[in-house]
Formats: sequence, structure tokens, C-alpha cells
Amino acid sequence: QKASTNRSPALFSNELQQKVLDTQVILEGLQQATERRQLYLCYQPIVSAKDSTFCSFEALLRWDFAGRFIGPDEFIPLAEKSGLIKEMGAWVLNRACMDASQWQHAHNAAVSVNVSVIQLMDDSFIRALDNALRSSGLSPERLHLEITESVFVDNKVKIKQQLEAIQKRKVLVSIDDFGTGYSSLSQLQSLAVNQVKIDKSFVDNIENNGEAIIRATLFIASELNCKTVAEGVETLEQAQALKAMGVDYLQGYYFAKPMPNEQLIEWQNPVTD
Ligand code: C2E
Ligand code: CA
Ligand code: CA
Ligand code: CA
Repeated sequence: QKASTNRSPALFSNELQQKVLDTQVILEGLQQATERRQLYLCYQPIVSAKDSTFCSFEALLRWDFAGRFIGPDEFIPLAEKSGLIKEMGAWVLNRACMDASQWQHAHNAAVSVNVSVIQLMDDSFIRALDNALRSSGLSPERLHLEITESVFVDNKVKIKQQLEAIQKRKVLVSIDDFGTGYSSLSQLQSLAVNQVKIDKSFVDNIENNGEAIIRATLFIASELNCKTVAEGVETLEQAQALKAMGVDYLQGYYFAKPMPNEQLIEWQNPVTD
């Protein structure tokens, strides 16, 4: 122990200190972000593979921390650890339902909202969901909740209850990042899910071993009566290959990047058949 601290002097501990400091600054900033209106949602279209019409828009959280952009991959885990995610998630749910009820006239599309495990497992979640639906007036079929596959590993009983409560309200459930977690087929079967999102990593590797995994996922999804979405589609070649394989919906920079709500109302899909 002593020998190693001697070998790498101050450098390591400085770096560590910097990291701890950053985390603290970010957490404190995050606590005030909602009140200061620094949080906002961008929306990315999910289009039908058949005719490229859009079916849904995924809400992706953005944080402008005094001009400094911090990505959700960085702050969501912190919000989860600190418990802040419950409040933040409720805000996202509300905002997304409000926005979607606005575009109901412009677009015949749903809104997809990412839900953190911690948020989903909290007893207040269903109340927050009902609240968002009631105050926005959004029809529940127009709300999709995206839940990462890793959720399904623990707390199966509670998860099942929560998913049933969600589906009783006619809100759809998607499994996000499918194939990256460890859920088994039988586990998935016991949980009624409506949609499976094929992770970007498989789309990226479609020319190598990605294709086999995507085909396996499509098979599982059809057994479970689930629709499929491929995320992270960046090229025409990927879009064509996924469509040929029978994926139902596509999402990715090839179609559109996430955009602010104002832009979305006027958005027309430039990619059509
Ligand atoms: P995710 O749900 O898997 O979202 C997909 C991510 O890939 C998004 O990153 C999106 O902007 C990005 N993406 C979409 N198409 C492409 C593409 O063609 N190429 C590339 N390279 N990237 C693409 P983003 O917005 O940074 O979000 C990262 C993650 O943060 C999300 O992953 C999600 O897990 C989480 N997240 C975002 N917003 C929320 C939220 O409101 N609540 C919760 N709980 N998590 C959120
Ligand atoms: Ca997602
Ligand atoms: Ca995903
Ligand atoms: Ca992801």
C-alpha cells in the first residue's frame, strides 16, 4: 500500500479528488436544475420500417448546466444514487405527456419515456403516472414506457405488479437495450411486455455477429407477440438490412437526431420510400 502511494505521488489522489468534487458539483447543480429550468426534453422519432411514417417520439433528457452540457449517461446514474430520480422522473413523465398532447393534432404518434428502475420500483410511480395522464389529457395508448432489460433480473414480483398496473392503464411497455442484460425467455414470458428495443451495439455490428443476435431477438419477440424497434440506425444499409430482417420500427441518426419540442411540431420525415 505504502509503496504504491510512493510510486505515484499526488497525481492519483488529485484526480480522485477532482472526480469527487465534480460529482458533488453535479449533484448540487442537479438538485436545482428543475427549479432553474435547466432541464428540458428533446425528442427523437421512431419510424415504421414499412413506410417510414413516424409512430413515436422518444423523450431524451437534456441538462444545460450554466452553458455546460452534461449528458444523461453522466447525470442519470447520479440522480439514481441520490434518489433525485423520482422527482426528476416524475417531471419528465409530466413534461413528455404535456408535449405529446400538444402534437396529437400535428402527428399521429405516441411518446416514449425512459423510466429508471429506481423510479419504477418506487411506490409513488403509479401515482405519478396517473397524474401525468390526467393533467395532460393524453390518451394512455399514446404513452410508451421504456424500461431497461437489467431491471428484470431482480425483484421479479414487484416488477410484475408494476408492469401489470401500467398495462391496466393501457400504457405500452418496451424493454430497452434488449440483449445486453440477462433476462431469460421464461422471465420475459411471465411479464407482459409490448415492445422490444434492439440495442445499438447489435445494429453497429450488423455485418458481423450482430445479425445473428438480431434474428434471435426477432424470434423471441414474435413468440412473445412483441413489436420490435432497432435503435441507433445510422446508415441506409443498416435500415435496409433491418427492414429485410423484419424489424417493425427503426430509430437513429439516419432518420433524425433528437430535437427540441418546438422543432418537432413542424418536423416532416425527410426519409420516405
Ligand atoms: P437510451 O434510452 O438507450 O437512448 C438512446 C441513446 O442513443 C440516446 O442518447 C440517443 O440520443 C442516442 N442515439 C439515438 N440514435 C443514435 C444514433 O443513430 N447514433 C448514436 N451514436 N446515438 C444515437 P442520450 O440522449 O445521450 O441518452 C443516453 C441514455 O440516458 C438513454 O439511453 C437513457 O438510458 C438515458 N436517459 C435519457 N433520458 C432519460 C430520462 O428522461 N430518464 C431516464 N431514466 N433515462 C434517460
Ligand atoms: Ca430508451
Ligand atoms: Ca436503448
Ligand atoms: Ca442505452
